[in-house]
Amino acid sequence: MEKISRRRFVRQTAGITVGVVAGRLSTVTSPFPFKVFIPMPLQVVIDDVGWWSGKDGHEMEEPYRTGIGRDHVPADYQAIVDLGKGLGIRPQAATILCEWDKENILRDLPSSTWMGRNWDNSRWVGPWMDEAAGIIRSNEKHFELTLHGIGHEFWEGEKFTRAEWHDTDGVMRPQEEVEKHLDYFEKLMKQHNLGPFPKSFVPAAFLHSFGPSAAGRTGLATILKKRGVNYINTPFGSVFNKERISYGIFGIDDGVMTVDRGRDEFPWKAFPGDPSKELTGPTCGMHWPNMLHPDPLRNGEVVQKWIDYLKPYNERPDMMLAPDSLFFQHQLVHHILTKTAVNGNVVELDFSAVDELPSLIGQQELTMKIVTAMPARFGSADIRIRLQELQKEKEYIYILKLTRKRGRRKVSIMVK
Ligand SMILES: [Zn+2]
Repeated sequence: MEKISRRRFVRQTAGITVGVVAGRLSTVTSPFPFKVFIPMPLQVVIDDVGWWSGKDGHEMEEPYRTGIGRDHVPADYQAIVDLGKGLGIRPQAATILCEWDKENILRDLPSSTWMGRNWDNSRWVGPWMDEAAGIIRSNEKHFELTLHGIGHEFWEGEKFTRAEWHDTDGVMRPQEEVEKHLDYFEKLMKQHNLGPFPKSFVPAAFLHSFGPSAAGRTGLATILKKRGVNYINTPFGSVFNKERISYGIFGIDDGVMTVDRGRDEFPWKAFPGDPSKELTGPTCGMHWPNMLHPDPLRNGEVVQKWIDYLKPYNERPDMMLAPDSLFFQHQLVHHILTKTAVNGNVVELDFSAVDELPSLIGQQELTMKIVTAMPARFGSADIRIRLQELQKEKEYIYILKLTRKRGRRKVSIMVK
């Protein structure tokens, strides 16, 4: 009976208690109590980066921008980098690029802006572009440019409807328009040498269909995959066809990992945000104004609040900050699907469910945390323990960076 209830506990918490119970028995093989966690990774996603105007234009058939009542400046990009550096992470900047067009190429893509064929962006062309591009280029480890859109909405004539990729009924825009918007996003990136096409996507206005939005059509994930996108982050509350999502907080859409963002703490216009709400899901989602200051010289004060808020999650045994969005995807599937068990002083990991995913996600690295009351060492013939570090002095939290060996679905790790 004891065993059954313990198993149930394990399934519910994804962490394991052992030793406390076993320690009372005479046949203990575990030398001391320990707990095992495959921590939930946290990923920071910041929406609506890229505007130069801070005006919310939706009442004039212009886009929903950030609504901050001042222009955006290069210091607003530096703020994202500083958040990344302060936490050792690579925040995702979900980026809108129309106001970066220095050659007015968007005249040839009238559905992408409020001016259509008369598009004229000269107002926003200036040295601040090079400065911000320089910040993005030279801080690749702390700034991930994520695809969000060109103009955020979709214009037919002078009027727009929401949003750029899908409409409010969850129907994708015509495929040739979608492809053109992606082509032009890439061209705008090239104008400023902003790096390769993004590997991640956040749907504008969170309007998105999981899989094709209508029978016989190609889904957006499939279109994006051809351009190298391997991951989509969006709240499942507003996803269409969500019954196709198989794993709760994530699904695999034609090989593209799609993760539930959950609910952000702040409305998109909160300027600035002062975060305090407990994070329960894997995405810390926000909009650009939430992490900036009305006086850009004081952006650092707001960034520091976010650093102080997020850092403790990395020190918890059941959570960690993902260093980048690829690590995030791998760790999340292990957190959800890898089964853990403790047998005496052996930790057993079962990757069967991960290996059945319809993608290659989860085949390489994962992080495990083991909490003990006294110092411990770890060894395994089945999996590479690349790094083992001690997080705290009071109780011992060991962080084990594991690299899987090919073909090993079930592995054992000795705790000594
Ligand atoms: Zn947006």
